[in-house]
Parts: sequence; structure tokens; C-alpha cells
Amino acid sequence: MARTCSVCGVRKAVVYQPHTGRSLCRECFLEDVKQRVKREVERWGMIRPGDRILLGLSGGKDSYVMLDILAEMHDPSKLVGVSIIEGIPGYNREEDIEKIKSHARRLGVDVVITSIREYTGHSLYEIVARSKARGSKQSPCTFCGISRRRILNMYARMYGVDKTATAHNLDDEAQTAVVNMLRGDIVGLLRQHPLSPPVSSEIVPRIKPLRKIYEWETAVYAVQRGYPLQETECMFINRFPTLRARVREELYRLEAERPGTLLRILENLDMLLEEPARRLEREELPKCEKCGEPTSYGRRICKLCEILEEAGVEKPAYTLRRPTLLTRTTRPRF
Ligand SMILES: [Zn+2]
Ligand SMILES: [Zn+2]
Repeated sequence: MARTCSVCGVRKAVVYQPHTGRSLCRECFLEDVKQRVKREVERWGMIRPGDRILLGLSGGKDSYVMLDILAEMHDPSKLVGVSIIEGIPGYNREEDIEKIKSHARRLGVDVVITSIREYTGHSLYEIVARSKARGSKQSPCTFCGISRRRILNMYARMYGVDKTATAHNLDDEAQTAVVNMLRGDIVGLLRQHPLSPPVSSEIVPRIKPLRKIYEWETAVYAVQRGYPLQETECMFINRFPTLRARVREELYRLEAERPGTLLRILENLDMLLEEPARRLEREELPKCEKCGEPTSYGRRICKLCEILEEAGVEKPAYTLRRPTLLTRTTRPRF
């Protein structure tokens, strides 16, 4: 049964959006996602005219969607991408990274490619194997997340950009919020708010333009635009059942029963936490005694140095190349 689009009333609907109860055609769906990203970016003043922004591009669907929309909203010559090869067999491979790099270049955005191995001296897989052999209980996801955040921030400082953008979607953000609540981590919850101040002068402010877009929507967007979907899941995802994995499952159940649940969680927190997030003091985090990068209060050495130490890496490389970015004199046309 072919339905007509609830928005334009002309074209054939190709996607049902449970949280609005609408059926949308390809064009109206893509426009809906774009406009919601734009509204969210404007609502919190995430991007100012002239801002130089570093985009974390994993090569996954979310990163294509973020790149697509930001390159349209903002001057592409002010954007630069960074792709990090984690070093997980079969996942986030060099070919995927090359694909997003050439796509970005067509949009006028240059991409720097690096790897966890380049920064720490070892791939993610090697660190996990070494940790396991030494009886360490650190989760690969913790190491992966910390390394990627660190590398993005190092490049953000290296190129002197104003913001770092990551393609976290609504599912990611709602899960993180619930995990923070369950752990009683009020500061973590406040820090998720788009208006919370930076934690250190060494950390470039981070923005998440896709924070109100469902993951299924980024998948549909990517398919409709012909971007590649990663078929392989990260091999570590189910081997380490974290609290987050359980929260994810429960939230999906609730979302299926009551469409819009994830959106309502984040919307309510955005409103409730706006004032306290604005009032958060701008902190200056202590510096890691080993690498000199900011670390949390009460820590002598940072989590990254700690994990590497536990894996038997006493002297991490901590180096990154600085490729010269392609200079663009003309703005590409869309
Ligand atoms: Zn339509
Ligand atoms: Zn450190």
C-alpha cells in the first residue's frame, strides 16, 4: 500500500517516522533531518559564522550524515576532518576511511588520517591483547573512546580550530544520560549539556550536531543518499557487556512501546539542566604527570596513561604527524 508523504502530500512516502507518526518521502525526510540538525545547532549557538571546526569522521553512517549537513550549513573551507583507524580486525578499515576522505574532498573538506597505533605506538587490538595477558580488567571501549577523544583534541589544538564536532546521535546521548543518572554522576550529566563550559583551556570545545537525530534516521539518511553502511560490527561490542549495553537494550524496548522516548529524555534534560549547566564553573583540570594532558580531579596520571601502563606500555609514542591541509580558493558548489 503506497502512502503519500504527510508533508508534501505529493510524493510517495518511503519512510515512517514513529516519533511524529508521519510517513515521509525521500526529499521531505532528508529535509526534516537537516532542519532538525540546523535548529539544534542554532538553539545552542554551537557554530558561529567563521568558526573553524574539526570533524571526527569514523567512516560510519553517522559521520557521513554530519559531514553532509555541516558542509552545507557552514563554509566547507572552514571544516577539516580527522579519521582515526582504531586497529580492530575487520572493522573501521583503511578502505572505509579512504572512502569518506574522497567523499569529503569532493565537498571541499580535507581529511587527516591517523591511527591509535600512530599516537600510542600500538593498535587497539594489540593493547587489548597485552592488557588481557597481564590480567587487566580495562574495557577496550574505554581505551578506544579515550584515545579517539585525545587524538581529536590534539589535532584541534594543532590546527587551532574553534570547535571539535563528533557525530554522536540521539541514541548515544540518551544512553549516556541514563548511564550518568544510574551512576549518580551529576557532573557528567551536566557536562553533556550543550551549554556547559569547557573543562580546561587545553580542551577545545566539543559540539554534537546530531544529538537529536535517531540512529535509525542516520541509517536511512545514509541509505537514501547512497553512503556506505558499515556491515561489520566492532568485534568487542558484545564481548564486554557493559552497563551501557543493558541501558541501550532497555531504552530500545521503551522506544518501541512509546515512540519518542529517547527524544523526550534528552529534551527534558536539556530544559531542566540549562540553568545549572550555564552556571557550571569553568574548571582548570589538573595535568597528567606523565603526558601533561588534562586529567580528572584526584588523578596523578590520566586514564590513557594508566591503561597503557597496565598493558605494559611504559613509554607511549604520543606523536602525531601534521599534514599540510589542501588549501581551497573556491567554494565547491552543491
Ligand atoms: Zn514529501
Ligand atoms: Zn597521561
